[in-house]
Amino acid sequence: MRIQYCLPLSLLLGACAGPGEAPAPAAPMRGATAVLAVLETTDVHSNVLGYDYYKLAPDPTFGLDRTATLIAAVRKEFANTLLLDNGDTIQGTALADYQALVAPLKCDQTLAVYKVMNQLGVEGGGIGNHEFNYGLAYLSQVTGSRFDVDGVDPARPRCAGPAFPQVLANVYSSKTHQQLFAPYRIIVKQVRALDANGKPVVATVKVGIIGFTPPTIVAWDKRWLDGKVYTEGVRETAQKYIPQMRAEGADLVIAISHGGLDDAAYSPSMENGNYHLSKVPGIDAMLIGHSHQIFPNAASKVDQFNLPGVDKAGGLVNGVPTVMANLWGKHLGVIGLHLQYDGAHWVVDKRQTTVEARGAQQADKALVAADPAVAALVAAEHAATIGYVKTPVGASDYRMASYFADVGDMSAIAVVNQAQADYVARYVKANLPQYAALPVLSMASAFKSGSAGVSDFTDVPAGSLALNNAADLYLYPNTLYAVKVDGAGLKAWLEHGAGRFNTIDAAKAAAQELVNPSFPSYNFDTITSSDVSYEIDITQPPGKRIGRLAYRGKAIEPAQQFIVATNNYRASGGGGFPGLDGSKTILASPDANRDVLIAYIKAAKQLTLAAHGARRSWQFAKVKTAGPVVFHSAPNVIGLARAAGLQNVTLLRADDGGGKGYALYAVDLSQ
Ligand code: MN
Ligand code: MG
Repeated sequence: MRIQYCLPLSLLLGACAGPGEAPAPAAPMRGATAVLAVLETTDVHSNVLGYDYYKLAPDPTFGLDRTATLIAAVRKEFANTLLLDNGDTIQGTALADYQALVAPLKCDQTLAVYKVMNQLGVEGGGIGNHEFNYGLAYLSQVTGSRFDVDGVDPARPRCAGPAFPQVLANVYSSKTHQQLFAPYRIIVKQVRALDANGKPVVATVKVGIIGFTPPTIVAWDKRWLDGKVYTEGVRETAQKYIPQMRAEGADLVIAISHGGLDDAAYSPSMENGNYHLSKVPGIDAMLIGHSHQIFPNAASKVDQFNLPGVDKAGGLVNGVPTVMANLWGKHLGVIGLHLQYDGAHWVVDKRQTTVEARGAQQADKALVAADPAVAALVAAEHAATIGYVKTPVGASDYRMASYFADVGDMSAIAVVNQAQADYVARYVKANLPQYAALPVLSMASAFKSGSAGVSDFTDVPAGSLALNNAADLYLYPNTLYAVKVDGAGLKAWLEHGAGRFNTIDAAKAAAQELVNPSFPSYNFDTITSSDVSYEIDITQPPGKRIGRLAYRGKAIEPAQQFIVATNNYRASGGGGFPGLDGSKTILASPDANRDVLIAYIKAAKQLTLAAHGARRSWQFAKVKTAGPVVFHSAPNVIGLARAAGLQNVTLLRADDGGGKGYALYAVDLSQ
C-alpha cells in the first residue's frame, strides 16, 4: 500500500503527491520570489502532552500540544512553511516505555508521537541517537521501514509508521552496506510566490533534506547495534551526498543533523560534528539538536555557541543559518529563507534570512495555550500510561529528591547505587569468580537537576512507591554495565565528574556560581558507599580536585583494583570519561538499571533514610571564601537540605531574578 503524502499547502492548493512524485510543475520565471519558513522540532522525547508521568500531574512548560500552537501561528505568518523533526522523538517518557516495552505497539498501530506529528503536518524527519534505544527491530517497526540487518526478520511486514519521509545518511547495515533509511529525500514543495512583476503565482521548490545522527550510537547502544550497523562521519557523508542532491535538482539543501557544535579537530566518530558540517559547501540551513539547548540565543553562555564563527544572536554557524529548538517541544525553530528564482533554481537571498527559536513561553512569561486536538488524539495511550505507572513496588520513609544533589543530598542517588552494586556483587559471585576478591562499587548521578525547568528535579514523596517513582529516580532506559578499573582510573572518573563545578576563587568577594551549566548533571557521577571517602576541592581547576580518596579508611593505591557498577552509556564512552571506552567492561547486562532498581525496592519492601538514603562518600574540601558560592534550585525546599544534614546550605533569595522560578541558594564551603 502506498502511503498518501499530503503537504498542508498542497491540500490547500488541491494537490496531493506521493513521495518523490512531482505535482504538475509550475515553471517559475526568472526574478520570481518566495519566502519559505523551515520549522524545526527536536528532541521531543515522546513528550506529546505537557504532562509529567513521574509526578502524575500536568506540566504546561513542555509538550507537542503547545508546539502545535506555535506551529499554527507561524503558518499564519508565513505563506509557506516546511515542518521538519530532528529526532530523539520516540524515547524519553513513561508513555514511550509503555508503548515499547509494556504493551508493545502492534504492527498496524502508529506510535503516539508519530500520530501527533502526522496531525501537525510534519513533512520530513531525522533520526536521533535515542531512536536506537529500543533496538533495531522496534525502530524498523515503528518507523514503517524495512531494515535488512542481522537480528531483524527480513520477511516481517512493513508496519505503520509516520506519514512523512525519514532520512539518515550516516548509519549503514553491516550486512548490506546500505543505509537503514533513505540518506536524503527531495521534497517537491508547492509554494506561493510572486513573479517578477509582483503577481501571485504558485511555484515548485525542490527541497532536499539529509539526515545525520551522532556516529557514537554504535558505542552507546552497543547491545543492539554491535556487528549489525556501522556509522560514517558527518562531514564525509555530507561531502558525498550533497552534490548528488544538487545534481538531482534540489534547489535547497537542509541538513537535519542530530548533534550540537564542537570546534575540536574533525573526527568521523565525533558526537557533535555540525561545526564541521557547516563548512561543507552547499548547505542552505542546518537544523541541529541533541544538546537540548536554544540557538540562536544572544544571551547563551553555552560553550558550543561561543565559538569562533558562531553568531549566537543571528543564528549562523560559519555563515549557515542554523537553529536548535531546545527540547520536549518547548521551542520551535523558524528559519525564514527568502528565495529568488535565477532562471534555473531557487536560490537563497542570504541578506534577508531570519533565524529564531520561538518559545512556548511568551515574553510576558505566559505560555501559549495547548492545542486540545493533540490530547484528543492520544487520550487512550495517555490513560494507559497513567495506569501503568501507578503499579506499586514498595514504600519509603523519606523523600527522595535531587534539588540539592550538587551540594551533597544523596537521597535520590544512594538507593540507585545500592541497587546497582547489589546486582553486580551477586552477578560476580555467581558468574565471575576470578573477580570475587575485588570490591564492588557503584556510580550514579542526578539525571534531573533543573536544566529543563524548575520542575525538572527528581522528587519522590515518602510513602508508597510506584513505577512512576522508580522512573523519576532513574530517568533513562539504560542497561546495567560493570567495569573493572584501577585506583588511578577510579580517581580519573571522579575527577571528570567533578567538572560539574566552576573553579572558585576563594579570595573573590563577589558571588560565584557553583555549577558549570555546560556540564550536565548526569555526568557528575558519585559514589555513595560507606567504604569510600573523598573530597572535591573546587578551588582547584578541573582534573585536580579529588583528594583524600580512601577505601575503608586507607588511601587508594593507583594499582588497586575495583569493579564499578554503572550503565551502558558510561561504560561505552558516554560523557567522555578517561579510559571508559568499552574496553573495561566485564558485565554488559541486558537488564535496565531502572528494572534493577525496581527489583531492589521490591525485595527491600521498605526503604529507610538511614539504610538507603543517607550515605555519601564525598565532601567539598573545606575552604573559607571571601564571597558567597551560589547555586539555583527550586524555591521552598530548604527543609530538604536540612533533612539531608546539609547545615552549610542557606536560602539567599526565594526568587533568583532569572525569571524562571528558581530560588538562589548559597553553600558555605568552610563548614
Ligand atoms: Mn535528546
Ligand atoms: Mg540526542
